[in-house]
Amino acid sequence: MRIVSSNATYDVIVIGGGVTGAGVARDCALRGLRVLLLERHDYNHGASGRNHGLMHSGGRYAVTDPDSARECILENEVLRRIACHCIEPTDGLFVTLPDDDLSYQATFVDACRQAGISAEVIDPQQALQLEPLLNPDLRGAVRVPDASIDPFALTLANVLDARLHGAETLTEQEVTDLIVAGGRVQGVCTLDHRTGQSHEFHAAVTINAAGIWGAQLVRHAGINIQMFPAKGTILVYGQRVGQMVLNRCRRPSNADILVPDGTVSLMGTTSDRIGIDEVDDMRVTEAEVNLLMREGEQLVPQLAQTRLLRAFAGVRPLIASDDDPSGRSISRGIVCLDHATRDGVEGLITITGGKLITYRKMAELATDLACRKLGVDAACTTATLPLPGSEQRNVITGGFKPSGKSNASKRHGDRRRAIPADDALDRMSICECENVTIGEVRYAIEQLQAHDLANLMRRTRLGMGLCQGRSCACRTANLLAHLTGNPDSALRDLARLIDERWRGTKPVAWGSALRDAQLAAAIYQGLCGLDKAISRKEVEP
Ligand SMILES: Cc1cc2nc3c(=O)[nH]c(=O)nc-3n(C[C@H](O)[C@H](O)[C@H](O)COP(=O)(O)OP(=O)(O)OC[C@H]3O[C@@H](n4cnc5c(N)ncnc54)[C@H](O)[C@@H]3O)c2cc1C
Repeated sequence: MRIVSSNATYDVIVIGGGVTGAGVARDCALRGLRVLLLERHDYNHGASGRNHGLMHSGGRYAVTDPDSARECILENEVLRRIACHCIEPTDGLFVTLPDDDLSYQATFVDACRQAGISAEVIDPQQALQLEPLLNPDLRGAVRVPDASIDPFALTLANVLDARLHGAETLTEQEVTDLIVAGGRVQGVCTLDHRTGQSHEFHAAVTINAAGIWGAQLVRHAGINIQMFPAKGTILVYGQRVGQMVLNRCRRPSNADILVPDGTVSLMGTTSDRIGIDEVDDMRVTEAEVNLLMREGEQLVPQLAQTRLLRAFAGVRPLIASDDDPSGRSISRGIVCLDHATRDGVEGLITITGGKLITYRKMAELATDLACRKLGVDAACTTATLPLPGSEQRNVITGGFKPSGKSNASKRHGDRRRAIPADDALDRMSICECENVTIGEVRYAIEQLQAHDLANLMRRTRLGMGLCQGRSCACRTANLLAHLTGNPDSALRDLARLIDERWRGTKPVAWGSALRDAQLAAAIYQGLCGLDKAISRKEVEP
């Protein structure tokens, strides 16, 4: 394959367009560094787009992992200031159900207070007034400052700000090798998945923010990191059954959190070690679905009558511990490795572990280290500088609102003003479940680097609502073909999206979900002939 050498050299190359890499790129750009962010697929393709969207107060970790709990509450307070458009300030309840040990509540409250987390014990009746669908037999409840956070909007706001401050950011650009010479990483080799061309990019410092894939990357420099791929599965219910984040008040275990997320509810999660070879092809199992349903119905019995939309799984990028087979007790603390001191390889930093909500602190640590290596004296400002979308005071906070305008506010905050709306066509809705307009699709293509249906979904939530793309995917593919001037890819795009949505529906396909899926198959394959127009090989990424 022909190598197209890039003349551009950077201070910093960041590998990985999850929330951590996006945060690092933003921090570097704000400190005046020349930075390049490289993502092999699309932003949020990894764990950052496959999580619970819970902005932890830290309560969950207060008893078992107090350092991580303190990190969570500090960053929880920072994110409320800098990313308010991504957050729905729901608060959370830790409830004790009949099967749980009520004496754990005192241990929990004490640990929260020691970690600096407000934890107010409330009467079970008061909890039921706040959340009428909770299990009526609950024995105790504690209110904490948990919240619901939109991980897609959070990562994108970081990418946008990085770009606004001069960063270059490329998607579909896979790092295939590290350029190592004289004991120093001097850059990276990449493969551009859209053009098939290979490139080289050079920088004084390379930051590995590739999540669970980071261990494979550093092997190119002869470095070994023992990662622990901890798979977690989540169920998506087609209704919002509660207004607060609901947790079981017990030691962290499987299936103990229900998070309201816009129009839907997320029930999770599990934690199981998987092989590194399974990370790119995760399957949700029947046992996981059964466990999550059973425990979910204990928390909120109404879930038994609520339609399941889909199931998905993600992999937490944790650092291995020999004595914890599930990974449940591995610290969610931040790991920042300077490979010069650890492995004798200069110019390479790994930033991993942590959580979605501690991404900013992770980025600060990695950027501080990069600045020290580069001899740059520039302070971090990300704890106080609002992200694009949250810049105006009193910006509408996130959360489900019934009108289309407000839903765009949740996704883009005060940046919604940049969404074209003068034209009647731009104001037309293209995804009714999530209130996405044609103008918002145009904005995502022009400003947010969207170029296909899947990454449009990650930027606008198009196809993520009740119909799971069945009604909107076809017309959006048509619109995309017009807007991008690329009609050839429209069919492949459509087939991929339908395939991806089906993968999520399949583990929960019974009753009305199965009927809906069969109807969609009849329309797209039987009527439109999608399976004849495109081969299976073209659908697979
Ligand atoms: C089931 C589950 C539930 C969770 N729930 C929560 C929660 O409620 N709250 C919370 O705070 N945290 C939660 N987390 C943790 C959180 O999602 C992660 O800690 C966080 O998203 C990690 O972000 P990251 O950017 O480090 O990694 P990732 O998001 O995985 O990003 C890594 C990126 O690197 C890219 N990449 C990999 N290799 C290459 C390469 N060679 N070249 C270029 N790019 C590459 C990948 O495509 C990927 O996009 C959860 C995690 C899981 C799995």
